[in-house]
Parts: sequence; structure tokens; C-alpha cells
Amino acid sequence: MRADKIVFATGNAGKMREIRMIMADLGLEIQSMKEAGVNIDIVEDGSTFEENAMIKASAIAQELRKSDVQAIVLADDSGLEIDYLNKEPGIYSARYMGEDTSYTVKNANLIQRLEGVPDEKRTARFVCVIAAVFPDGREFSARAAIEGRIGYEERGENGFGYDPIFYLPEYGRYSAELSLEEKNRISHRGKALEEMKKVLRQAAGETI
Ligand code: IMP
Repeated sequence: MRADKIVFATGNAGKMREIRMIMADLGLEIQSMKEAGVNIDIVEDGSTFEENAMIKASAIAQELRKSDVQAIVLADDSGLEIDYLNKEPGIYSARYMGEDTSYTVKNANLIQRLEGVPDEKRTARFVCVIAAVFPDGREFSARAAIEGRIGYEERGENGFGYDPIFYLPEYGRYSAELSLEEKNRISHRGKALEEMKKVLRQAAGETI
């Protein structure tokens, strides 16, 4: 199998920095979809993280095939699962209460829905799935999670999204209280990318 580069289906600069750091030693060029010249709208209408990640990766792979680009396409999908709320917001994490609703409001709403729920029932996790489509059409995915609990108020100034309500018992801190470097080292996305790197090495053998 010949692959000239990796294309990662994101426009997010932070995610690009992270994937470049983690996958650097594969020795392949790593481009964002924009850098690869792909500019399409993708409807994520799957019912699992795996399906949504694969929808994104496949759509971009299809575009690249048209211009005969030999790239491994990667895409991620992530979200917060709260056990007490039947794993809500899950795949709807970004869309929960509306895409344009602030996270201050979303976080306050989730805390309110857990009112009176004791620590041991407030378990939650950030999940990340990375999907890969190879130039020859083979598909793979890797999933990772970081376990925690929903707190009682927002804490910390770092991170984004649900980080201020996500408490990490192992670290005694909220996710938004970790530095970017600390978070990247333990995050669901970092772990899923590491996992995917192993998959890529194995799947491509000596060719990458
Ligand atoms: P996406 O897969 O990057 O689009 O993320 C989906 C949504 O999940 C984000 O918009 C956030 O609401 C939530 N999310 C995913 N990862 C994190 C995280 O590390 N911290 C806080 N929220 C996250």
C-alpha cells in the first residue's frame, strides 16, 4: 500500500497540533482537510461515535480519490457520556441544547439535572473515536476514554466545552484545571490517537 500523507478531518488548530505531535514519528506529512484542498460539508447522522467518525473519514477519502491523492484519512468524533443520564449528551455533545448555546448554560443544565445525585452515581467519561480510511479502502477505528465524575459547579479556566464540570478523581482536579500539556497527556483524544498510531503501523506494515 502506498500512502503519501495523512489527512485529518478537522479545521481545529489545537487538534492539528496534537495529531502532529503524536504521529510525527510515522514520517508522513500530516495535513488538515483544508490544507489537502478538501472543503465539503459533512452531515454527521450516525448513531455512534464510530459511525460519525467513519462518515467524516469516508467522505473526505472519496473527495481525495477523485484527485488521485494517496492519503490515509483520519477523522475523530468525541463527546461526554454521563451514566446517570443514560449516556447523554453522548454523540450530541456539541449539539446539546443547541449548537449556539454557551457551555456555561449547558454545564449549568447538566449539573441541575444531577441535583441530589450522590458522588458514586455521577460517573461520566469523555470518549473519542478515531476512524481511518486507507487509500485501498480499508477501514479501521480506535476508541479511548477518560473516566471521571460530574462536579457540583464549574471549576477551572482552561480547556473548553464540558471541561469545567468534569472532575478527575485520580488527579484530584477538574479537567479545566489541567494545563494543556497535562490534559493532552491523559485525554481521550490523545489516547485514541496513540491507539490509532499502533493500528496504522500494523496495518501498513513497513510501508509507512
Ligand atoms: P468534537 O468531536 O471535537 O466535535 O467534540 C464534540 C463535543 O464533545 C465538543 O463540542 C464538546 O462539547 C465535547 N467534548 C469533546 N471532547 C471534549 C473535551 O476534551 N473537553 C470538553 N468537552 C469535550
